[in-house]
Amino acid sequence: MAVDGFGRRIDYLRISVTDRCNLRCVYCMPPDGVPWKDPATVLSFEEIERFAAAAVAEGISKIRLTGGEPLVRKGIVGHIERLRAMTGIEAIALTTNATLLPKMAKDLHAAGLERVNISLDSLDPEVYAKVTRGGKLADALAGIDAAFDAGMHPVKINVVVVRALDQDLVSFARLTMDRPIHIRFIEYMPVGGEEEPVPGGACSSETGAATSWTEEDSVPADEILARLVVEGAAAGLGGLGPVAKDDAPGGWGPARYYRFDGAVGTLGVISPLSHHFCGECNRLRLTADGKVRMCLFSDIELDARTVLREGSDEDVRALIRQALAAKPESHNMRRGTVRRMSQIGG
Ligand code: SAM
Repeated sequence: MAVDGFGRRIDYLRISVTDRCNLRCVYCMPPDGVPWKDPATVLSFEEIERFAAAAVAEGISKIRLTGGEPLVRKGIVGHIERLRAMTGIEAIALTTNATLLPKMAKDLHAAGLERVNISLDSLDPEVYAKVTRGGKLADALAGIDAAFDAGMHPVKINVVVVRALDQDLVSFARLTMDRPIHIRFIEYMPVGGEEEPVPGGACSSETGAATSWTEEDSVPADEILARLVVEGAAAGLGGLGPVAKDDAPGGWGPARYYRFDGAVGTLGVISPLSHHFCGECNRLRLTADGKVRMCLFSDIELDARTVLREGSDEDVRALIRQALAAKPESHNMRRGTVRRMSQIGG
């Protein structure tokens, strides 16, 4: 079992397999995208698998693949199959915009992918096209159906709530009434937008301002819940009550879950800004270019790529132990980070 310097159990690794994406969500990427990484700097699947094996040897048992959009990387199905086959891995999960699931879900499931989180910020085709800068809602909805048809479980939908987007939250609640679908409303976070890396390893969130994120645009979880209660009742969905922990969809993260009377699925909130959950943080991140990030909101990174290319397996394990020891106790995340979410993987 891996334990960090503050006694937290760390068993979860998020791996970004690419910084490329087939969408351009307004809060995540600039319209023309970010300049892609030089392919030579992006970890090969072999390198990621070597890192994962070392992480498992240090106590990691759950892996989530993310991006960019992980499904745009060629060979992802075989990669998942090899990761899933590693002794010590309990489950593999994927975070995706779902647009490629219609053609890939069956193969992904056969390769061992069970859990899928689908990012979808609006059920209105026009708003969806605006948020994703040109995405088609029908593709994402077909992706959700494909995940269910392939037998994936649980299927969760991540909705980043941005005040300026004026999203219809109740439309998501309706999806939970007759389908085992788990919606998680996420507070919009100040990630990305700083121009310069932070010298000397100081936590970026203490040293610079994000350029695009504004605090007013981030809707606190309590406000999201209050809106669901009022708007859900007005829409005839009944009362909204908390879901007991053992009845909630099994998760690796800090969501709190609720359910409308009689609903099959659930609604959750993830509140990194309004209710810090650093005390329960259980994760490390590996970026597509091979950097270990100890905290989403800190630009302090360790260089796993060089160790993977020049060092031994024991060197990789030592780097992971170093990351565990260096994991900060908490974040002070009112400002941005150098890297954008598309580069970190969310
Ligand atoms: N392309 C995949 C997808 O769409 O799920 C995986 C990568 S995407 C960067 C991961 C998640 O980060 C998405 O759910 C996205 O909405 C979320 N995200 C990006 N920027 C964010 C921000 N500033 N605050 C909160 N969530 C953010």
